[in-house]
Amino acid sequence: MILIDNILLEEEITETSFSCDLQKCKGACCTFPGKFGAPLKDEEIEMIYNNLDNAKKYLSEKSIEYIDKHGFYEGSRDNYSTVCIDKKDCVFVYYENSVAKYTKEKAYFNCESNFRKPISCHLFPIRVNNTGRKYLYFQNIAECKPALKKGKSDKVNLVNFSKDALIRAYGEESYNEISEYVKNNGIPKAVSSIFGGVNETVS
Ligand code: SF4
Repeated sequence: MILIDNILLEEEITETSFSCDLQKCKGACCTFPGKFGAPLKDEEIEMIYNNLDNAKKYLSEKSIEYIDKHGFYEGSRDNYSTVCIDKKDCVFVYYENSVAKYTKEKAYFNCESNFRKPISCHLFPIRVNNTGRKYLYFQNIAECKPALKKGKSDKVNLVNFSKDALIRAYGEESYNEISEYVKNNGIPKAVSSIFGGVNETVS
């Protein structure tokens, strides 16, 4: 574990090359089999609700009916998630050339919505461990294997790939600190502080 700018993270995040290859994975993270969809922060429910109509225009009839009947989220305070259809697709998924995509993001990029996607989706495959001590970790799943390959060949590190999400979640200054750490090949505090750095390793 390392602590950078008060963010605790597994070193694996800073060491992994990663760049999503949608043509290969087909957006699998939007369609994982399971009972629950993407984790939602409490405040995201209202944000999604306020932008619901804009996302709905890109959804299938089936998804719209599902939302109208069951709503788009479930759970309780501090533990909400999006609902899934038939225990698979997140209710906000649409398909573009057989790639699963997120309607809210489409509406966002078409300037029709001010909510891009839940921060948990935006950060993925970086996840936040909320049980006990809070820290970030890399969820290495089989579906992302092509992204590891593409990241390596394109020389893209997971931290840099996740720039927008990390800035959104933790701010630009923290992102820059983590990015610097990657650039310096993980120089721990004992060494980097000589040069004015702020990183430290945590066992
Ligand atoms: S996070 Fe993994 S499953 Fe999701 S789009 Fe990227 S490579 Fe595909």
